[in-house]
Amino acid sequence: MAPGTEKIHLIQGDITRVKIQAIVNAANSSLLGGGGVDGAIHRVAGPELREECRKLGGCETGDAKITKGYRLPAQWVIHTVGPVWRGGEHGEDELLAWCYRRCFDLVRELNITEIAFPSISTGAYGFPVDRACRIALREIARAGAELDRLHRVLVVCFDAGTLNEYQATLREVLSGTKDPRTKNQNQ
Ligand code: ADP
Repeated sequence: MAPGTEKIHLIQGDITRVKIQAIVNAANSSLLGGGGVDGAIHRVAGPELREECRKLGGCETGDAKITKGYRLPAQWVIHTVGPVWRGGEHGEDELLAWCYRRCFDLVRELNITEIAFPSISTGAYGFPVDRACRIALREIARAGAELDRLHRVLVVCFDAGTLNEYQATLREVLSGTKDPRTKNQNQ
């Protein structure tokens, strides 16, 4: 098994309802709330989250900042700003990878032991899910292997299509094959 992957759990659901130490928000650079998962997190956390975010002075694409979770079940929210998909030739892959890396920098600094991610950039920002989930799972597995104190990483997919992509890609990573979806069953 690829090191770190044993800590990864893929589920379908609403990240605002997950009882876990920290959740990640796919925010925009203002950090003042928006649509999608960002709007849902701010709605549940309440106005105190917006107040704390206001003091952070925004966030660059590929970076991450942490706040408390307020009325969320999660103690912490790590806000990261994914890249807007512009065709794939504008550094989108690397910027998405940096979102995960910067989140895990904060996990390390705060000794966070369990965290849940949404599928960053694959909603309003238009990043293709099959490409985004390869980057996500690679970075999560790398951090899982490196960070001894981190014992659980959830990826919370809102819809079945996204979950299917993550599951197929994780199977691929686990089996070490290039594309298990087209693999001959008899092999
Ligand atoms: P981005 O702007 O980074 O693309 P979005 O919030 O538009 O962020 O979408 C990112 C992913 O989060 C999408 O797959 C979207 O369906 C999903 N999503 C939306 N609401 C929630 C939620 N409450 N919990 C988990 N995932 C969510």
